[in-house]
This record gives sequence, C-alpha cells and structure tokens, in this order.
Amino acid sequence: MIPTDEVKKPGAVYMNARVYAIQDTTPHLRRISLKHELLKEIGPLAPGAHFKIFIPPAHDAQVTLPDLLSGRPVWPAGKDKPFIRTYTVRNLDRVTGILDVEFVLHGDSGPASAWAERVAIGNHVGIGLKKTGKVHVQADWYLLAGDETATPAITAMLEALPATTTGIALLEAGSDADIFPIKTDSAIEIRWLIRNGKLPEQSDLIIDAVKNIVLPDALLNTRLVWVAGEENMVKAMRKYASEQLGLDREELRATVYWKAGLSEDDDQ
Ligand SMILES: Cc1cc2nc3c(=O)[nH]c(=O)nc-3n(C[C@H](O)[C@H](O)[C@H](O)COP(=O)(O)OP(=O)(O)OC[C@H]3O[C@@H](n4cnc5c(N)ncnc54)[C@H](O)[C@@H]3O)c2cc1C
Repeated sequence: MIPTDEVKKPGAVYMNARVYAIQDTTPHLRRISLKHELLKEIGPLAPGAHFKIFIPPAHDAQVTLPDLLSGRPVWPAGKDKPFIRTYTVRNLDRVTGILDVEFVLHGDSGPASAWAERVAIGNHVGIGLKKTGKVHVQADWYLLAGDETATPAITAMLEALPATTTGIALLEAGSDADIFPIKTDSAIEIRWLIRNGKLPEQSDLIIDAVKNIVLPDALLNTRLVWVAGEENMVKAMRKYASEQLGLDREELRATVYWKAGLSEDDDQ
C-alpha cells in the first residue's frame, strides 16, 4: 500500500502527523507535539480523552494508514503494518492543529516507548481519533488516582475542573525527580506517591492511600472515583471500591492502561 496523508470515516479520522515539538516534562515523561491540518476539525474532546497512535515500523517512515472502505480499519499485512498503541490527548489546540501527547519513557521494551526515546522534530507518526469525545460525568468531589501512564489524563482533568470541585488526586511516580507542578483552579489536593525503586506492578501505594481516604456523603455530594494504570493496581481498586466503598456504577471509572509483562499487541 502507498502511504496516504489522511483517511476518514464517519466520526473518525486517521492521519500522518509530523512531530512539531518535544519537551521533557520530567526525566521519564516526554511531551511530544504532533501537527496536522485535520486536527483543526477535531473536538472539543473531554479532558483525558484517548486516541490511537500508529508507530511506523521503521523509525521515520511515513505510516501506511488503514483502508476504511468497508467502514472498519483494514491494516496492511506484514512489514508495513504500524504498531498500534493507545495514548491520552494531553492537549489539543484546534486553532493550530497541534495535539500534545505525553509518553512514559520505559526504555526499548515497547515500540511506542522506543520511538519516543529517539523522536526528532519532523518525524512521521500516525494518529487515529474520534472527531468528538464522550463527556465525563460531572461531580462535586473527585478521587483521581493513577501511575505515570495516567498522569497525562489526570493532569488534563485537573487543569479543566472548576474551582467548585474538591477531592484528592493520587499520582504515583518512580522518584522525586518525576514530580512536576500541576495547575488547577479546583480545590483538589494533589498528593505524589513515590515508589523509590519498587516496580509499578508491585506497588501498593495507591490502594494503601485510598484506604485512608473518607469519601464524602453520597446524599450531599456527587462523587467520581477515576483510576487508571497498571492492571494489578486497577484490579485491587475495583475490588476495594465494590467491597468497601459501596460506590454505584456511575461513581467509578477504573481502567487498565497497561499490563506488566504484556505488550498492547498481546492484549488485543
Ligand atoms: C486509554 C489509555 C490511555 C493511555 N494513555 C497513556 C499516556 O498518555 N501516556 C503513556 O505513556 N501511556 C499511556 N497509556 C498506556 C500505554 O498505552 C501502554 O503503556 C503501552 O503498553 C505502551 O506501549 P509500548 O509500545 O511502549 O509497550 P508495549 O509494546 O505495549 O509493551 C512492551 C513491554 O513494556 C511494558 N510496559 C508497557 N507500558 C509500560 C510502562 N508505562 N512502564 C513500564 N513498562 C511498561 C509491558 O508490560 C511489556 O512488557 C494509555 C493506555 C490506555 C488504555
């Protein structure tokens, strides 16, 4: 197949974007700005919305986009097929057509991280996203919790939440060097939980912290517990939320963002 610059289907667009800027938020979180004209047609998206990124098999090749004639994406077979990964829209500037994404740098074990480690201005990368996003449940009180992969979503939510909202954000990170300032108008308290050498999949920091949080009365406040990150933590949180917190379905969003020892390809 010959690489094309963009393909569309109702409600979604796929494009070959270019790397426009690169900035390290922390030593392990790299913010990469991607530019394409079609990004001006997207949104508005809910803070923390996700999208698909298509990593070219050869570092700076243009990505071969899927055939959408059947209505479903059909990817080229073999060596032209890109690696498909899920990331968070950290920010979308619809005026300039620039989408920012923050990659956790976890070395060369995965193609997305390896690509982000070596990225240069002007590199090609594919993007697929829905033209509009689901709007999150609005609440008075939030518990936002996650490891580094969820930090872009939590940060985007904190930046968007109004001054009337309260709650707690639990951000797990590897070391003190991974802490960075977050702007929020909300009254949500931000707590960093530092693993100091422990592997993310072995960390109990979030679940232990949650056990010490008293949720506000559901009769007086609308509440949302939003959790994302490595599978072990998310499963522990789902169990605790259903057995101990008595949350109803609308009050809990718990999403596995990655699984230790498994690539996103293995998890399809
Ligand atoms: C809705 C959603 C939004 C997401 N948003 C973001 C985001 O904004 N930023 C972000 O960095 N990630 C995000 N993720 C997680 C990201 O998709 C995974 O980490 C993905 O596996 C990375 O792809 P890869 O090619 O680097 O590694 P893969 O090829 O998928 O995996 C290779 C190996 O690396 C391990 N691995 C994967 N991720 C990590 C990690 N973070 N730390 C240590 N080891 C890891 C795997 O267990 C596996 O052993 C999101 C996931 C979802 C579902």
